Amino acid sequence: MISRSVSALVQALAEREISSVELTQLYLDRIARHNLALNAFVTVDPEKSLAQAKRADERRAAGQATPLTGIPLAQKDIFCTQGWLTTCGSKMLGNFVSPYDATVIEHFNATGAVILGKTNMDEFAMGSSNETSHFGAVKNPWDTARVPGGSSGGSAAAVAALLAPAATGTDTGGSIRQPASMCNLTGLKPTYGVVSRYGMIAYASSLDQGGPIARSAEDCALLLNTMAGFDERDSTSLERSREDYSRELSARTPEKPLAGLKIGLPGEFFGEGCAPEVMQLVAEAIVEYRKLGAETVDISLPNMKLSVPAYYVIAPAEASSNLSRFDGVRYGYRAPEYDDLDDMYARSRAQGFGAEVKRRILIGTYVLSHGYYDAYYLQAQRIRRLIANDFIAAFKQCDVIMGPTSPSTAFRIGEKASDPVQMYLSDIYTIAVNLAGLPGLSLPCGFASGLPAGLQLIGDYFSEARLLNVAHRYQQVTDWHQQYPAGFD
Ligand code: GLN
Repeated sequence: MISRSVSALVQALAEREISSVELTQLYLDRIARHNLALNAFVTVDPEKSLAQAKRADERRAAGQATPLTGIPLAQKDIFCTQGWLTTCGSKMLGNFVSPYDATVIEHFNATGAVILGKTNMDEFAMGSSNETSHFGAVKNPWDTARVPGGSSGGSAAAVAALLAPAATGTDTGGSIRQPASMCNLTGLKPTYGVVSRYGMIAYASSLDQGGPIARSAEDCALLLNTMAGFDERDSTSLERSREDYSRELSARTPEKPLAGLKIGLPGEFFGEGCAPEVMQLVAEAIVEYRKLGAETVDISLPNMKLSVPAYYVIAPAEASSNLSRFDGVRYGYRAPEYDDLDDMYARSRAQGFGAEVKRRILIGTYVLSHGYYDAYYLQAQRIRRLIANDFIAAFKQCDVIMGPTSPSTAFRIGEKASDPVQMYLSDIYTIAVNLAGLPGLSLPCGFASGLPAGLQLIGDYFSEARLLNVAHRYQQVTDWHQQYPAGFD
C-alpha cells in the first residue's frame, strides 16, 4: 500500500480497500520507525492526524468525498497550520503555535486531506542542503551521509523514504526542484502567483512560490489542483479561472505523444559547471524525448550567468525586510534577559536567528542602504528584467526548455557548509526561473553511482498543465521515478 501513488491511494480509498484512518496509521508507524534516522519531520501529532482521518472517513461514508479526501500528506513547516507548531526551521519560531491556517492548508483541509506532520527545512527556507535548520540536518534516504537538498529537504526525504505519499514545498530559488532532484522525486514550482502565499512564512516575497513534491507528475497535478487558486488575501495572487492540471494527462497515448513539441536546449545549461555524470543522464533523457516525438532546438539565455549574483542581492534584500517582524514582542522567541527594549530586540534576534539567516539580513540591509541601493539593488532588478526577457525570447523558439536541475547529485553533509558561494552555486540552474516568475519542474532521469539526478523542464507562464504532461509522457516510458531507496522497509 505505501508504495502506491497518490492517484492509486485515491482509488483505494474510493473502493474502500482501506480507510483513511488505516492509511494514516500506516504512515505514522513508518514515521515512528524511520524519522530518527532521517530527521525529515519536526512535528508529528498522531492524535490530530487520526482525528482528521476519522472525519475524512465519515465524510466519505456520507457520500461527500472529493479526490484528496482522506489522503495523508506531509506539510513543509513554512505553512502556518492552526493549532500546530509552525517553526520555519528556526529557533525564532521554535515555540510558535499558529493561530490560523495558510491558504494552502485551508485548501487541503477543505478537501479533507490529512496532515501527517510538519517537515524539516532550512531555516526560513534559506539553504540548498537542509543543513541550516535549527532542528538539525535532514538525511537523504538514498545515502544518509548526504544532504537531501534544500530548503524543502524534509518534505523530499519524507516522500522518498515512503513516510508520506506526497508533500508540499516552497521554491524561492530552487527549493522544490533541487531536493526533488536529489531525492528522485517530481517537484513543481508553479508560475508566480498561482499558489497563494498567505500564511506561507515569507522569505523573499517576489520569488516565493509553493508547490507539490511527489513521486510522479500525475500526483503533482492532483496536489496542485487543490493548492492553486486566487486568494484575495495575497495581493500577488493572480485572478484566473480554476484549471484542472491533470487535464492533459488523461488523453490516450498515441505512439508519438509529444510530436510537434519543441524542446529548447540552452547552451548555458550544457556548458561547464555540471558534473559529467549528471550531464550524461540529462542527455539520455533528451534522447528519450526525441523518441516520444519531440524536436530539439538550440537556444541561448545569455543573461543566465548573472542570475546567482542578482538573486543574492534581491532575495536577501527582501528577506531583511520580511524578517524585521521577528522582534520578540508578540510571538516567537524572546531573550530571557535584557536591559531595555532595544536590548530585548537585539538579544532576541541575535539568539533566535542562525548564522545563514543573519548573513542574509546583513547583506540585505547593506544592499538597501542609502548610497548602495543604486549600485546593488537597482542593478540586480535590471538584471532580473534582462533574464525575464531572455526567457520571453526563448519561448518564441520553443515550447519547453530542458536541462539539469542541479549541477551535481546529492553532496555529503558538511561538504559545502563552510563555503556559502559553493552552496549558492548549487542553484545555478533553478534561480533564473524564480527571477522570471516562470513555472519549473524537476523529474527523475536516472542514477549516477546510486544517487538520483533530475531533469528540469521550464515552461512559459501558466504552462503547468503542459509541463506536467511533458513529464508524464516520459514517466510512462521510464521507471526512474518508481525506484525506492533501500533500507526503509
Ligand atoms: N538555495 C536558495 C537560497 O538559499 C533557494 C532557497 C529556496 O528556494 N527557498 O536562497
